[in-house]
Amino acid sequence: MKNYKEALTHRIFEDISLSTKELELESYVIGGFVRDFILKRGKAKDVDVVAVGSGIELARQVSKNLSHKPKVQVFKNYGTAMLRAYDMEIEFVGARKESYQEDSRNPVVENGTLEDDQNRRDFTINALALSLNRETYGDLLDPFDGLKDLQDGIIRTPLDPDITYSDDPLRMLRAIRFATQLNFRIERSSLEAITKNKDRIKIISRERVVEELNKMLLSPKPSIGFSLLYKTGLLKLILPELTALAGIDEIEGQRHKDNFWHTLEVVDNISENTEDLWLRWAALLHDIGKAPTKKFDKKIGWTFHGHEFVGSKMVYRLFKRLRMPLNEKMKFVQKMVLMSSRPIVLSQDIVTDSAVRRLIFDAGEDIEDLMTLCEADITTKNPKRFKKYHNNFKLVREKMKEVEERDHVRQFQPPVSGEEIMETFNIRPSREIGIIKEAIKEAILEGEIANEYDAAKEFMLKKGKEIGLKPVTS
Ligand code: ATP
Ligand code: MG
Repeated sequence: MKNYKEALTHRIFEDISLSTKELELESYVIGGFVRDFILKRGKAKDVDVVAVGSGIELARQVSKNLSHKPKVQVFKNYGTAMLRAYDMEIEFVGARKESYQEDSRNPVVENGTLEDDQNRRDFTINALALSLNRETYGDLLDPFDGLKDLQDGIIRTPLDPDITYSDDPLRMLRAIRFATQLNFRIERSSLEAITKNKDRIKIISRERVVEELNKMLLSPKPSIGFSLLYKTGLLKLILPELTALAGIDEIEGQRHKDNFWHTLEVVDNISENTEDLWLRWAALLHDIGKAPTKKFDKKIGWTFHGHEFVGSKMVYRLFKRLRMPLNEKMKFVQKMVLMSSRPIVLSQDIVTDSAVRRLIFDAGEDIEDLMTLCEADITTKNPKRFKKYHNNFKLVREKMKEVEERDHVRQFQPPVSGEEIMETFNIRPSREIGIIKEAIKEAILEGEIANEYDAAKEFMLKKGKEIGLKPVTS
């Protein structure tokens, strides 16, 4: 019998063990905590405890024995209870047996043994249990050889995979998510069962789907997950905008790149440089406008005119469909998609000050993120070109620094206010004020005048005159 006492050194486990004895029950730590300890992913702060008996009663007993008497949150419908103690969050559940109906992922539940409870777990690596009972403290209960699967890096279901995934289709996404987070392989019969049951994903709430997608995106190498989603057919049901990018067309010997695989490379690239979930979403969606805008032109070959604009509109519909937040996070993703070609176009040309000023002005506070996205977008396999593009971006960045230090357009504030324009020409709020303000902004971005008060004031007087205004003489 393998023993992992050293996983259970935290005081809370002693407390639970004592309470278990007092109630004359058995209890075990199970699931993610055990898995992550053995994988040395660091000790998790979330602990799942299964009691053979009432999990709710055990939670109450533990609270009673703790000096600070933490509140026990009871979820009656699920037969679970949760409490916080020290720096840990512990979830208690009574060991149970589950049976499923066709139309719901919520099973019919009855009391069961530890074995029954391990049987209902999604994967062998998530069914590992450590004893909290006095005589066997730390013993590993591993009826499905989950330890071996952990060591071999394999995702496998304890029972028949076809039934496991059909019962609760969320497990299909969890399998792919764990494969992505842990860089594990999904065992073949599981992969086949997922492919077979993919259509059952429709009974899963969109919020749960997004939760899993987010976890995949936040993994070190998100492409593992998205290529599995693609190969099993799930991606087409969840994000058809992405699968529409797959494939290469050829007309008259001209081909374009496969924008789906390109996208996955971009997401992996950006994940080396940012932990930001929304910037990673932007990378995932930056090319979605390419499917609906794709055209073949006899003279120039394949084009995707306006794909950035079309793509940014698609972002809204996609977020709405998946019940994702329609807030400033979505607007950020839209903005990244909309602007995703700007620095590239710029770096292919001679980099002028005014082009750089405009880029900074339009991107504002998001300019760094935009540059991170564009650098991740370089996926050419040609080392010469790879180097050239990166060098160009280095130039753009240098120029950006220089221009921003001088002109401060990143947080652009009009150097002359609307009030001052009104007072100068003794006019009421009107179209003219907008025209003058716009002209000043343009002059600054074009580099005709410096971004400062005196120059802008002088320019204002000139522009006012042009459109027939006279300054009041003081
Ligand atoms: P993490 O918290 O890192 O996502 P975890 O394994 O702790 O990983 P939870 O969602 O917290 O995952 O679930 C805790 C445990 O409950 C799992 O380890 C697994 O044993 C079981 N479990 C969770 N969801 C399911 C499910 N849909 N089907 C079967 N068992 C599940
Ligand atoms: Mg957990």
